[in-house]
Amino acid sequence: MDTRELLSHLAKLENGLDDFSFTELSTAEASALKRTFASFKHGLEEKVFGASISVPSSDVKSKQYHVDSKVQGTFQESTLIANVSHEIRTPLNGVLGFIDLLKDTSLSSKQSELVTALDKASNNLMDIINELLEYSKLAAGHEKFEKVPFNLANMIGEVAFLCKTLITSKDVLFKVHIDKSIPEKIIGDPSKLSQILLNLLGNAVKFVDNGAITLQVNLKSNKKNRVHLEFLVSDTGIGIANDKLKHIFDSYAQAESDTHLKYGGSGLGLSIVKEIVDNLKGCIAVNSTLGKGTTFKVILPFQKVDLLTDDFLPKVKENDTSREIDLTGKRVLVFEDNIMNQKLMENRLKTWGCDTFITDNGIYGLKLLENHQFDIVLMDLRMPKMNGYEITERIRQSKDSTISKIPIIALSADFSATDKKECKTIGITDFILKPYNAEELKGVIYDHISKSSAHISNSGTTSTKNDKALVNIEAIYAECMGQSELLDELVRLFKQNIFEFIGKVKMHLQSSNFQGIGFAAHKIKSSLKMLEATSLLSICEKISEVCKTGNDKNYLNFLYHQFLDEYPNVEHQIDEQIERLSPNNP
Ligand code: ADP
Repeated sequence: MDTRELLSHLAKLENGLDDFSFTELSTAEASALKRTFASFKHGLEEKVFGASISVPSSDVKSKQYHVDSKVQGTFQESTLIANVSHEIRTPLNGVLGFIDLLKDTSLSSKQSELVTALDKASNNLMDIINELLEYSKLAAGHEKFEKVPFNLANMIGEVAFLCKTLITSKDVLFKVHIDKSIPEKIIGDPSKLSQILLNLLGNAVKFVDNGAITLQVNLKSNKKNRVHLEFLVSDTGIGIANDKLKHIFDSYAQAESDTHLKYGGSGLGLSIVKEIVDNLKGCIAVNSTLGKGTTFKVILPFQKVDLLTDDFLPKVKENDTSREIDLTGKRVLVFEDNIMNQKLMENRLKTWGCDTFITDNGIYGLKLLENHQFDIVLMDLRMPKMNGYEITERIRQSKDSTISKIPIIALSADFSATDKKECKTIGITDFILKPYNAEELKGVIYDHISKSSAHISNSGTTSTKNDKALVNIEAIYAECMGQSELLDELVRLFKQNIFEFIGKVKMHLQSSNFQGIGFAAHKIKSSLKMLEATSLLSICEKISEVCKTGNDKNYLNFLYHQFLDEYPNVEHQIDEQIERLSPNNP
């Protein structure tokens, strides 16, 4: 019987099913029918797919069980890895925070060397944990892939910027070349593409001491609706031996046994890249000569942006570099869930002197807006849980006009015409298409903060914190009756109290011991009052209040970080004032 005949029999059987009634069958007959169908199904599978995938009917149950347990195994494994990584990441974040604090204190050169080593090791550990988490997510299929329009040249610009920051201390030339015939905007997953390129370029930086690293993007094919782009990441580094090349994409594979010792790394980077490339239906290959260098080639498909949609995309604003733009002291609240974007944003805003808070949690961000003065909100529209539209609606509905009128700039990688309309309706002030260039972002922030200057001058928050008196040691100096050693000792004790407070709050936050936090905040208040450290005092009062009235851990975390941010400024002013009051100072 040929396939066509079989299909016609099956069609008749399918029609017959309409008149079929189970009630006419005994249990034994029903099981016999079920067995017959199972065996038919496996017979058919064997004919269509070949013997290797067929499963004898008696094994159906056990095989099924086996598959399920494997899936469940992967799931359990990835959940376990995710949990363990999370458990390690939380205290490790604390360690990194304390290392940062330690770096700001006066250290001997030996101590400073040790702190640098500690910092490096902790950061390496954090990178490995993050990679492990990422890989387990990808391998378990939990990672989401986007399809959004983006500007390729801007994205490559971001990647190049990050890559250059990695190369600073080396004698390495970094070159980028983008084929001019590639359409300006394409549709794909820009953050996954950045991740691929950053991994490959990161390796190149690691394995090249001097010479060149090149990123080249070529148009491989250009069809009606889609293009295939070829990304070549080449370096003139140590190269990879021929026999090691075929295992290079395996998890935990490093070319030589001493690679980890010499260069660090987990051997997961390329496996992550390969998983992403496979998911994006692309391909990856490597070509390398030991001692000469390596080239990774990635080919990926992208959709073309149709012109109609493109008309509705927000246009990239012209950069006006001649303008003097000063954002020092501006308070920016950012809603963003992508870690890489968070890092970039934080870095930029800090460089411009902004006070920044970044969150991916709508409720938490709204709470911050209620309790703190911000000058502008940057809003990622696509976020898990509460998305940017909902958050904006809630902001606009606020009864407090300083909140409801705050400029909100939407950041999105995928503006469609409907998005744009919806944005306007709900009251989004302006849009920026991701990935955007830094100057463009700076200009937009500046323009909108300037426009809402009435709001800013009312709030009085735009004065830079450095020109505001955050502390006053005159009263305590008077108590010391001119004994500068006593003043030094009191200030030393004050600083010690602050460090103890920071340590305790960090520890209690981890164990959600709100009573402990409240107690620590209460205890530090008298020292803060003594030195008239008003800004720190107000943060501590808020901490006490939150601990009394509820258990809002997110908000406590924010206040804690605000304290950490503010303390170095206070310490700086204390040291300046001591210097001024010093008897040796005329
Ligand atoms: P790792 O985190 O250890 O760098 P990867 O999966 O990214 O892990 O890379 C695996 C191994 O491949 C590296 O340890 C290194 O031995 C080799 N490798 C990757 N890229 C390069 C390169 N550009 N030059 C030389 N060796 C490389």
